[in-house]
Amino acid sequence: MTTRRLLLLLLAVAAIAAFFALDLGRYLSLDALKARQEALRHYAALHPLQSAAIYFGIYTVATALSIPGATVLTLGGGAVFGLWRGLLIVSFASTLGATLAFLAARFLLRDLVMRRFGDRLKAVNQGMERDGAFYLFTLRLVPLFPFFLINLLMGLTTIRTRTFYWVSQLGMLAGTAAYVNAGTQLAQLDSVRGILSPGLLLSFTLLGIFPLVARKAVEAVKARRVYARWPRPRRADYNMVVIGAGSAGLVSAYIAAAVKARVALVERHKMGGDCLNTGCVPSKALIKSARLMSQIARAGDYGLTNAGASVDFAAVMDRVRRVVAAIEPHDSVERYAGLGVDCVAGEARIVSPFAVEVKRHDGSTRLLTTRSIVIAAGARPFVPPIPGLEQVGYLTSDTLWELRTLPDRLLVLGGGPIGCELAQAFARLGSRVTVVEMGERLMAREDAEVSDLVAGRFRDEGIQVLTGHRAERFLLEGGDKLLVASHAGGAMRIAFDVLLCAVGRVANTAGYGLEELGIPVTKARTVETDDYLQTLYPNILAAGDVAGPYQFTHVGAHQAWYAAVNGLFGRFRRFRADYSAIPWATFIEPEVARVGLNEQEAKERGIAHEVTRYDIGDLDRAIADGVAHGWVKVLTVPGKDRILGVTIVGEHAGDLIAEYVLAMKHGLGMNKLLGTIHIYPTLAEANKYAAGNWKRAHAPERLLEWVRRFHAWQRG
Ligand SMILES: Cc1cc2nc3c(=O)[nH]c(=O)nc-3n(C[C@H](O)[C@H](O)[C@H](O)COP(=O)(O)OP(=O)(O)OC[C@H]3O[C@@H](n4cnc5c(N)ncnc54)[C@H](O)[C@@H]3O)c2cc1C
Repeated sequence: MTTRRLLLLLLAVAAIAAFFALDLGRYLSLDALKARQEALRHYAALHPLQSAAIYFGIYTVATALSIPGATVLTLGGGAVFGLWRGLLIVSFASTLGATLAFLAARFLLRDLVMRRFGDRLKAVNQGMERDGAFYLFTLRLVPLFPFFLINLLMGLTTIRTRTFYWVSQLGMLAGTAAYVNAGTQLAQLDSVRGILSPGLLLSFTLLGIFPLVARKAVEAVKARRVYARWPRPRRADYNMVVIGAGSAGLVSAYIAAAVKARVALVERHKMGGDCLNTGCVPSKALIKSARLMSQIARAGDYGLTNAGASVDFAAVMDRVRRVVAAIEPHDSVERYAGLGVDCVAGEARIVSPFAVEVKRHDGSTRLLTTRSIVIAAGARPFVPPIPGLEQVGYLTSDTLWELRTLPDRLLVLGGGPIGCELAQAFARLGSRVTVVEMGERLMAREDAEVSDLVAGRFRDEGIQVLTGHRAERFLLEGGDKLLVASHAGGAMRIAFDVLLCAVGRVANTAGYGLEELGIPVTKARTVETDDYLQTLYPNILAAGDVAGPYQFTHVGAHQAWYAAVNGLFGRFRRFRADYSAIPWATFIEPEVARVGLNEQEAKERGIAHEVTRYDIGDLDRAIADGVAHGWVKVLTVPGKDRILGVTIVGEHAGDLIAEYVLAMKHGLGMNKLLGTIHIYPTLAEANKYAAGNWKRAHAPERLLEWVRRFHAWQRG
C-alpha cells in the first residue's frame, strides 16, 4: 500500500475511532434529536446560512465515513429546516458523502481487489459497464440495501464516478423525501423503524425495478422494430441455414442435425473451408516434410552417418495435396449428407432474417426459408495497400499451395504465427528466407522471451529476421524484385524472387447481405455479435473467423456449438460463449503453445500472478530425444494453485498444453496436477515437474521446521 493510501486509511480509521471514543453516537438518536429540536430550530432561524452549512458538513462527513446515524440525521434535516430546504440539503450532502466514500473505497481497495480477483471480476465489470447505472438506481431506490455498503462496493467496480454521482442523487431522492418529510412530524415519531410502511417499501421496490423492466421492454420493442421490415413467414423450409462449410459452419450444421433440426449448409467453394484446403492441413503437411529435412541434417548428432536427402519440391507439394485429399472425406458432402445435413453448393446471400438466397454455380438461384441463420463465412488473407505490390506479384496462404518450384529467395511479409510457420518450413526446404516484420518482435502476442528464442532459432537456421522494418514500396529493377523497407530512420533494399504476404486475415463481411440488413461490423472488421453470438437479429448468429476474436479452427468449432444451440433454442435458453480457456499453438520448432494469460498480458491488465517455470532442458525424455530445450511457464494466483495461464515452448508443446487446458477449464490446480501419475519417460512429465516446482516454492516452511524437530526428537 502506498504512503498516500496508508495516510488516508489512518485518517479515516482515526476519525471513526474518535466518533466511537467520544460517544458522538449519543447525539444521533431519535430521543436526542427530539430533545434538541426546539433549540436547533431556533438556531437555524437566527443563522439560516450558517446552520445549513454546518448541517451539510456534518452530514457529508458522516456519510463519507459511513458512520451509523444517517437516518436520524435525515430526520433532523426535516425537523430543523422543513421539507423543501431539508430535502435540498440532505439530497446534496448525502450524495456528496456517498461519492466520497465511493472514491475512498476505490482509492484504497480497487487495485488490490483487481490484482487478486481481476480475472474473475471481468464478467461483473462488463455487466457494470453495460447496466451499472440501472443496477445502482435499483439499489438506491430500495431502502432495504444498506446505504454505506452500496457506496463501498460500487467503488470496487468500474462504474464511472460521474455516473455514480447522478444516479445516486436521483435514486435516493424518493427515499430521502420520505425521511425528511417524516422529520417534519418528529414529535409524532416513536421509532425510526415505522417511517417506511410495508406499502411504501413495496412502492419503492417497484419503482426500483421499473428501469430494468422498462429496459427489457425497450429491448423487446427494438427487436420488434429490427424485424418490422421483414415479415416472418408462417412456414420455413429449414430450422437453420448455415453459410460457409469451414470448421465453424460444419460443426454448426453437425450439431443442428444431431438435435434433429432441418439444416442446410451452403458452401460457395470447397467443403472444409480454409483449414482443410489452404490453412492448417496443408501447412502442417508442408511443415512435416521440412522438419524431416532438418532432422536429416542433424542425423550426425544421433550417430548416423551419410544420411542425406535432397528436396523434390513438386513431390513435397504432391504429398501436401495427398494429405488434404486423405482428410477431405471428413468434411465431405457425402459425410454431411449422411448426417442429415442438406449441403447446397453456391453463393449464399441473406435476403431477410428468414431467407437465404443461393446462387448456384450454373447461375440459377434457390431461396431457402429458415427460422435461424448461422454466418460462418470465414476470413481471407489481408493484402496491405503497399505501392508496387501488384507489379511484383505476391502469394498468400490461399495461393501458395499452387507452387511447383521452390522459391530461391523467399520474402515473407509478416512475423505472426502463419508467417513464422511458413518461413521456417521454406527455409528448411532450401529457400533463402527473409522475414520482414513491422513490429519490434516476431509473434508479438507471446511473451518477449518467446519472440527472442524464436528469432534466435530462425537466425541459426539461416533465416534473415528483420523486425522493426516497415515495408514501404516494391520495385522491379532490371528484372529483380525489390522491397524498400524503412528501419530506424533509414531505408533498406531487399531483393527477392517470391513474395508471401502473411500480415493477417480479415473477416468476410461484404457482399452477402449484411449491408442490406444493417448488421454492423466491429472495429476489428468482424461481424458484431453479443456474448451469445447473436447479431442485431437474434435469429442470425455468427461463428468462426467471421465473428472473431480468435482465428483458430478449434475456436470456430467451439463457437459453433453456441451458435447452433442459441440459434435453435435461444428463445427458451441461451448460452454465453465461454472463452475462459482458449488454447493455441504455433507449429514452428520449437513449438509454442499457450492457454490463458501470459506474463505480458497479466502485467498489462494488472492481474496479480506468480510465475513458475520448468526448464525442459532438464527433462529425461527430452534429453534422450535430443530436444532438451524450451520451458513450461505457469501463471498462478498468488498464494493459490489456481492456474491463470500457461505457455509451453518445446517439442510437442501443442500436445502437452492439453493437460493444462483441461485443468483450467475444470478448475483443477497445480496440486491436482502434481498428484496425477505421468508416464516415465515422456515429455508430458514436464507438466508435472512444473507443478512440482510450484509446490516447492509454496512448501509450508514453518510446518516443515516442526517436522524436522520431530524427526530429530525421534532419533533421540
Ligand atoms: C496458413 C494457415 C495455417 C493455419 N493453421 C492453423 C492451425 O494450425 N490451427 C488452427 O486452429 N487454425 C489455423 N489456421 C486458421 C484456420 O484455418 C481458421 O481459423 C479456420 O479455418 C476458420 O474456420 P471458419 O469456419 O471460420 O472459416 P473458413 O474455414 O474460412 O470457412 C468459411 C467458408 O465460408 C465460405 N463462404 C464465405 N462466404 C460465403 C457465401 N456467401 N456463400 C457460401 N459460402 C461462403 C468460404 O468459401 C469458406 O469455405 C490457419 C490458417 C492459415 C491461413
